[in-house]
Amino acid sequence: MKNLIRKSVEVLDGYIPGEQPQGDDVVKLNTNENPWLCSVEVHDILREIDVSVLAKYPDPVCTEVRKVIAEKHGVGIGNVFAGNGSDEVLALCIRAFVERDDGSVGSFDPSYSLYPVLAEIEDVEMRLVALDENFGWQMLDGFEASVFFLTNPNAPTSLLFPKETIEVFVKDFKGVVVIDEAYVDFASEDCMELATKYDNVLVARTLSKAYALAGIRFGYCVGNKELIDALYKIKDSYNVNTLTQELARVALLDQGTMEAMVKAVKNSRKLMAEELTTLGFEVCSSETNFLWVKPPKPGAKKIFDELKKRNVFVRWFDGERTKEYLRITVGTNDQTMALVEALEEILAK
Ligand SMILES: *Cc1c(COP(=O)(O)O)cnc(C)c1O
Repeated sequence: MKNLIRKSVEVLDGYIPGEQPQGDDVVKLNTNENPWLCSVEVHDILREIDVSVLAKYPDPVCTEVRKVIAEKHGVGIGNVFAGNGSDEVLALCIRAFVERDDGSVGSFDPSYSLYPVLAEIEDVEMRLVALDENFGWQMLDGFEASVFFLTNPNAPTSLLFPKETIEVFVKDFKGVVVIDEAYVDFASEDCMELATKYDNVLVARTLSKAYALAGIRFGYCVGNKELIDALYKIKDSYNVNTLTQELARVALLDQGTMEAMVKAVKNSRKLMAEELTTLGFEVCSSETNFLWVKPPKPGAKKIFDELKKRNVFVRWFDGERTKEYLRITVGTNDQTMALVEALEEILAK
């Protein structure tokens, strides 16, 4: 069988998504979903949908939802690319901007663990830049790459890099900088302005986190029209389905619901951080909907396993920089208290 498959695919480990355990008694704090209910406008559309529209192909370029995004950010519709989740946007960026022979992809370490996998799939070099000992910004002198993926706020560390630092970096960087703002709605600052100010900057957003719509798969990016046009050239013909285009459109129009959910997440985040600190965890200052924490003894991996036995799911990443930490999604207060109860039991052993 071996030689039927491309060599780089044969050796590929593939991206490992967080588990999706089933059942009502599961406390699911492992994939940064939003536990609150999305906009009622989304419920209404789903109730009223005329199924005959599903016989036709979707709008290949997502015109209506892109109008709403363009309006939200004060840019032209030509500055907006819409994708099947922002993960698709990231994959397309490598295919559009990185030469197969001598191109390269850069990102921080630790950062979103999908980036190296995407580079590996396209068979291009991955260049990791280590963050400092507190997971703060640290750039190598003369660093080059065709594309640099910059998660801000960063994942899994939950920390925000200051906009001024990023601006200094993008000004001199020769390649494309994709600022992945998956969690920015929970943060105190964003970098959308840089996407309009610099030709080499794209800012990517998603409806999976703050809008509580991970299941519809919708993400987008904003930037210079030449970069956006390149993405349009290479995408699948109908990359965003009809239902998703409409659901994303009404969810984006309802900023009030999103803002209310963000407020609820921030309140729960504060409670969870306080409870974990009391239990002896070191808690990083989160600008996201998850906490990056260093547990006391018996340590991250052991606690991760013990929580799982009690049906509480969090995330643990193997690796030198990450293995002493856990990433815990901010849930409802009930979920937080269930987590705390399980942790009290584990730590008392
Ligand atoms: C969740 C996440 C995404 C993926 O968003 P989708 O729109 O669901 O594909 C992208 N980047 C980061 C850093 C994320 O955490």
